[in-house]
Amino acid sequence: MDELTAEVVVAGAGPTGLMLANELALAGVDVLVLERMHERTGLSKALNLQPRTAEILDLRGLLGRAEDRSFATVADGHFSVIPVSYTGWDTRHPYQLGIPQAEVEAALEERLAEQGVRVRRGHELTGFSQDAEGVTITAGGIRVRAAYLVGCDGGRSAVRKALNLRFEGIEGRGHGVSADVLFESPPPGAPTKWRSMANMVTSKSPGKFVGIIPLAEPNLYRVTFGDRLNRPRNLRAEVTDDEVREAVHERFGPEAKLAKIRWASRFSDDSRLAARYRVGRVFLAGDAAHIHFPAGGQGLNLGIQDAMNLGWKLAAELHNQAPPTLLDTYEAERREVAKQVLDNIAAQNALVPLNENQRALRALFRTLTELPEVEHHLSGMISGLSIRYETKETHPAAGARLPDFPTPEGHASDVFHKGKFVLLTTTPTPPPHPHPEVVVAKVPKLPWPDLTRILVRPDGYVANTTGATTGWLTT
Ligand SMILES: Cc1cc2nc3c(=O)[nH]c(=O)nc-3n(C[C@H](O)[C@H](O)[C@H](O)COP(=O)(O)OP(=O)(O)OC[C@H]3O[C@@H](n4cnc5c(N)ncnc54)[C@H](O)[C@@H]3O)c2cc1C
Repeated sequence: MDELTAEVVVAGAGPTGLMLANELALAGVDVLVLERMHERTGLSKALNLQPRTAEILDLRGLLGRAEDRSFATVADGHFSVIPVSYTGWDTRHPYQLGIPQAEVEAALEERLAEQGVRVRRGHELTGFSQDAEGVTITAGGIRVRAAYLVGCDGGRSAVRKALNLRFEGIEGRGHGVSADVLFESPPPGAPTKWRSMANMVTSKSPGKFVGIIPLAEPNLYRVTFGDRLNRPRNLRAEVTDDEVREAVHERFGPEAKLAKIRWASRFSDDSRLAARYRVGRVFLAGDAAHIHFPAGGQGLNLGIQDAMNLGWKLAAELHNQAPPTLLDTYEAERREVAKQVLDNIAAQNALVPLNENQRALRALFRTLTELPEVEHHLSGMISGLSIRYETKETHPAAGARLPDFPTPEGHASDVFHKGKFVLLTTTPTPPPHPHPEVVVAKVPKLPWPDLTRILVRPDGYVANTTGATTGWLTT
């Protein structure tokens, strides 16, 4: 058995693991990525990047790569398939980027390779043990000794199971199927470009739904359908062509001609959250920590943002720059965000009309979403733009995301490319900041006009409005 060492082992090269590995590599951490699969499948569950994810990719100069691989810009998001506009938000990216999950992974893996880190494929984590100094991981013929292990190994996470953590939540009643279907010609009435969430999903009978999204290739569509009330006995049972054909014909009639079903897969509407995100030297991130029905397109986005939150904290700890409680803020911050997402998914589920009362409630709710404040609240949740982390300060900037803004040199986001803390200051001659982990940038003004300086964390959230590093960095 080969014996290896690393500072951090990331189990799983999905979007969460790849983003985390990128963050660690950027901070100079020796990271090893172990992936069970011998090669990428090229299949995509998720199809979108939400505005906040676009912003954080921009903080690392990665957004352009995603844009190059995207196939659509979708003006709005949705809450229980009721479109909600993102235009009321102070962001340069008030839309969803239509991009297959496989392309997000490819872009992240490409950057990772440029940073000198290769994914070790065909290495399934099968066990680990931890002690005071580190973790020993066994995976497909190798044994690795590392300071930390992060389970980014998806909803059926072996890391989470080995930690014996409760994975609590709601057991759903229904199921869904996602399939990429090539048609002979666009189905009658189907859009040929994905520009809005409006009318993407319809329901003919209570609990049943069919959604369709045009993909990059002509006549290729993502068809998603299911039944919120009835679940097959075996959720892992293969999807039959007849099932897909029946759903398509129910929505578009028999004149919709299917040429080929490229792939199809079943998913559940269970919602679960790991009881803890950290046990000693082992962490969970992404689907390993939370699963839910893919309503609103949030799961991949949540995972990438988990990674963005954990990466710089782990790096600070490894570089002896982290105050004692910093690593624990990962669970405190990100578990709370996941809880809110699971709640919004539950609320979206409650708006699915299964009877006459719920139909009336949904109609009323739809009217309420036309109120700008309601739409803003909902779009903030779905887009990730309203996330803020608790701080002791009461100023509205503290703990909030830094909205990007133009500077004489470009944009404020450019200063974050190195993954360090950023001190933004409007004072004429900013003092050179003594801390090597802090980049100082002089800007003409800040998004909060009453402030003259703010310290921003590497993940783009305002640490404080004083610029002090106390509580964030040790020296
Ligand atoms: C039908 C469907 C549609 C969806 N649509 C959207 C959407 O539009 N928008 C959105 O944001 N989200 C969506 N999601 C959710 C999104 O796909 C997931 O949240 C996302 O894949 C999570 O990424 P991850 O990296 O955490 O986990 P995964 O993508 O599951 O990656 C885990 C990786 O770990 C590997 N692995 C597993 N076990 C081991 C092991 N023991 N050792 C080593 N490697 C291992 C796996 O092979 C895999 O590569 C959808 C989900 C489904 C099911």
